Amino acid sequence: MSESNSPHIPKDGEDSIFDKIVKREIPSTVVYEDDLVMAFRDIAPKAPVHILLIPKNRDGLTRMSVAEEKHKAIFGHMLWASSEIARREGLAEGWRLVINDGPNGGQVVYHLHMHILGGEKLGDFNK
Ligand code: 5GP
Repeated sequence: MSESNSPHIPKDGEDSIFDKIVKREIPSTVVYEDDLVMAFRDIAPKAPVHILLIPKNRDGLTRMSVAEEKHKAIFGHMLWASSEIARREGLAEGWRLVINDGPNGGQVVYHLHMHILGGEKLGDFNK
């Protein structure tokens, strides 16, 4: 992928970068996978542990703000998976879960994803 910050917005029927990672067309370091979700290391880590967690089937979920009632189950599963991944990564001292939404949220890849960040004391971004 480009390291640029220009948004990657798949057109209808087109694969996102993350769809291509799910299909193994783009290589990645997978740390967790089940029927519904996949997690792999971010290509440009912002912390010692920086993992991206995605739904394998995008099902319209380009970004958080388009979530519908039908997506409730996948969100629940993703939250559970984030906790399981953090345990497997040994992040017992704590970690952070981030979802960027849209231009103001700094979203670049329009395939919903959660950032799992940890491995050091993270900055106080909200102060
Ligand atoms: P966003 O800003 O959309 O929330 O975050 C997108 C993230 O995806 C960025 O942290 C970026 O480094 C990561 N990323 C983009 N393309 C690739 C890729 O091809 N492989 C991996 N592993 N990470 C990627």
